[in-house]
Amino acid sequence: MTNENTSAGNTISTGNTAELTGFAALGITGALLKATHGAGFTEPKPIQTQAIPPQMEGRDIFGIAQTGSGKTAAFALPILSKIIALGTKRRAKTTRALILAPTRELAVQIEDTIKILAKGAHVSTALVLGGVSRFSQVKKVAPGVDILIATPGRLTDLVREGDLILSDTKWLVLDEGDRMLDMGFINDVKRIAKATAPDRQTVLFSATMPNEIAELAKGLLKNPIRVEVAPQSTAAAEIVQGVVFARTKQKRQVLSTMLADEAMKSVIIFSRTKHGADRVTKDLERDGFKAAVIHGNKSQNARQKALNDFREGSVRILVATDIAARGIDVPGISHVVNFDLPDEAESYVHRIGRTGRNGMDGIAITLCDPSENSKLRQVERIIRSKLPIVADHLGSPDPVRNPAEKNERFEPANDRNDRNGRRDGRRPGGQNNGFGKKRFGDKPAFAGAGERKPEGAKPFKGNNKRRFGGKRPAARAA
Ligand code: AMP
Repeated sequence: MTNENTSAGNTISTGNTAELTGFAALGITGALLKATHGAGFTEPKPIQTQAIPPQMEGRDIFGIAQTGSGKTAAFALPILSKIIALGTKRRAKTTRALILAPTRELAVQIEDTIKILAKGAHVSTALVLGGVSRFSQVKKVAPGVDILIATPGRLTDLVREGDLILSDTKWLVLDEGDRMLDMGFINDVKRIAKATAPDRQTVLFSATMPNEIAELAKGLLKNPIRVEVAPQSTAAAEIVQGVVFARTKQKRQVLSTMLADEAMKSVIIFSRTKHGADRVTKDLERDGFKAAVIHGNKSQNARQKALNDFREGSVRILVATDIAARGIDVPGISHVVNFDLPDEAESYVHRIGRTGRNGMDGIAITLCDPSENSKLRQVERIIRSKLPIVADHLGSPDPVRNPAEKNERFEPANDRNDRNGRRDGRRPGGQNNGFGKKRFGDKPAFAGAGERKPEGAKPFKGNNKRRFGGKRPAARAA
């Protein structure tokens, strides 16, 4: 039987009169096809049409796609299909497939999608994430799992301690590669990839393609098929964007006045720093608004609760840092407010991409202090258009601060409290089993609660030798 993609890439001639359509045409069959339809996925999205058939043939994939494109099912369905076909064959402390994600929220979201798609099949999944109990994760992977979804830091710890063995891992997915890079995970990722089976199949997805990602792809992927759905760094068309000029001292009042408008049904407010996110949340509460907040100093449970409350609509305002919000798929966000401009202009595109999804309208408003003008120009360069000015408050005086608040000490929230005293849930040390020694300064350990640097900024700028216990890591890991 010869399989042939039509111009739509979606219908395959089977050599007889019957024609397969939808996911069946991409090679998805049986219980998996049923569960896919059960999930409401009847027509494949373009990234799925492009990426599933070559993966089914065993090819590596280099995908440029953003969250919202349907990339999770694009990489998960072929892996599930193969694992189901092979049947149950797990070895203790191993995983057959490994999916690496930069943030805990994205990892949780990926596992949720996989569980839905694997409904009715005997496929085991597990999560390995920082910020939650290490013990329960070790217990979960002890008998061996089919698909492990992990953030690189905690996974590195488990491998280093000998609680997880990657040599049987035949499928490796790196999701949001560019964000992994931004968060300083790249060496962890290379080390992890090197520990997996040499004949593995690898998929790398990234929303953008900086040079370092192209380099990473060269090192990790074998003769990959390149798939791409959204033009790089181009904001979605259905988002109405605008800028409000306001001095930093005016931003709180401007924001509260905006939020009084009930048309702002579901709002995500971005802050460049964790400290800033806490302050915005506190100021909103003082101004009578209920808001949830997510950032890297919050425990996994607190982050998940904030996200659930926002998703379910019990709070209409979510304050987030770029990294914590990355990859989050909450449908129906009506407005994105940038309380400040991001350090990297590309983050602007990711921020505003939280709204205007699935053909719905979205509005993105950016508050800009004169000191942020150069960042605004960089954003305008990237989106290739000038942001219309919605309002300009620069001629107005600064609001007078409530004297009662003046004496209040602002305590940035930090509810992450590991027994070992570290915020990322990692152990302070570890044996050296060839997977690196304890590393100081690695993201996200020891990031100060009150720090003002952007979340995810690389914390270590000195000599790399110290960071890797005197040894430089191999330049290319696979
Ligand atoms: P992702 O980019 O993987 O985060 O997916 C974005 C959203 O699209 C998720 O809410 C998925 O449930 C949804 N989705 C993915 N594939 C399909 C499909 N073929 N049909 C309908 N919805 C889909």
